[in-house]
Amino acid sequence: MPELPEVETIARGLAGRVTGDVIESVWLGSKPEPLKSPAAAIVATLESRRIAGVRRVGKHIVFDLEPERVVRTLLSARQRNGPRGSERRKHLAGKSAPTPSSTQATAQWIVHLGMTGRLVVCPPDSEMAKHTHLVAKLTSGRELRFIDPRRFGRLSVAQGFEAGGSEPLEVQMDHFVSLFHGRKTPIKSALLNQKLLRGVGNIYADESLFRAGVRPRRRASSLTREDLRRLYPAVQQVLREAIALGGSSVSDYVDADGEEGFFQLQHRVYGREGEPCLVCKTTIKRVVIASRSSHYCPKCQK
Ligand SMILES: [Zn+2]
Repeated sequence: MPELPEVETIARGLAGRVTGDVIESVWLGSKPEPLKSPAAAIVATLESRRIAGVRRVGKHIVFDLEPERVVRTLLSARQRNGPRGSERRKHLAGKSAPTPSSTQATAQWIVHLGMTGRLVVCPPDSEMAKHTHLVAKLTSGRELRFIDPRRFGRLSVAQGFEAGGSEPLEVQMDHFVSLFHGRKTPIKSALLNQKLLRGVGNIYADESLFRAGVRPRRRASSLTREDLRRLYPAVQQVLREAIALGGSSVSDYVDADGEEGFFQLQHRVYGREGEPCLVCKTTIKRVVIASRSSHYCPKCQK
C-alpha cells in the first residue's frame, strides 16, 4: 500500500506532468467501488477544468481544478464526436446535465490509491490496461488514467477539501508533543491515528520508533517530553529520506512505461523479524498491536 512518501512522490510527479493542462472529457468504467462521489458529480467537476496544481494531503492526491472558460466553448463541439475506446466503458459526459459554470469556485479531485491504485499519464493510443476505472482526456493530447486491480482506491470530488490531523512534515515540535502527550494508547497506535497525524503508515511508524529508541507497545502517556522530542525529528527524517529515495524514480509511478511497485526505504526493523539489529545485532522482534505488525529491537528500544 502506498504510504505518505510514495503518495508525495506520485503527487510531485503528476504535478510536473499535468499542471496547467485542461481536462477535456472524462470516461468512467462501470465498477461502482472506486467512486466515492456520484459518477455524474465527478464528471461535472473534472470536465473543462484546468489543473492548477497537484498536491499530497495526508495519503490523498488532490488535484486543484480551476474553471476553464475558453476551453469549455472549444470543447463542446469535440465532445459530440462521442466516446472512443473500449465498449464496456460508459461515456458519462452526456449524462452529467449540470456542467460547472465558468464562475464556479475552485474544486478538488481527490484520489486515494488504496492498495493497488495507479495514476498514469500516457499517450491516447497506449493500450488500455485492465482495471482502468477513469480516463481523463487532456487538451495536451495525453490521457490521465486511474488503474486499480483490487479496487480499494477511491475517487471523489469536493470543494475546499480538508483532511483531518496534522501534516507530519509541517507540524511544529510543541504541537507534535501535545498530540501524543498523556495518551493511553500504545505510541505505535497513536502514530497511526490519522486524526492526530495524517499519512504515517505502518512501515514509517516502526522505523521512526526505532530511530527514537522507543518500543512500539509503550503507552504514549509513558513517554516523557524528552522521548517525544526525539520521536519528532525521527518521524520527519524517515519520511524525508523515503521521499528523497522516491524522487529519483518518479517515472515508476506515473508514466505508463514505468515499472510497477513502490520503492523501499532501507528498513532497519520493519519486516526484519528474526534478523539481527543493524546497530546491536540483537534479534528483531515482531509483536501485533491493534492487529498491525510492529517490529522493534529489544535492546535499542526501551
Ligand atoms: Zn538494536
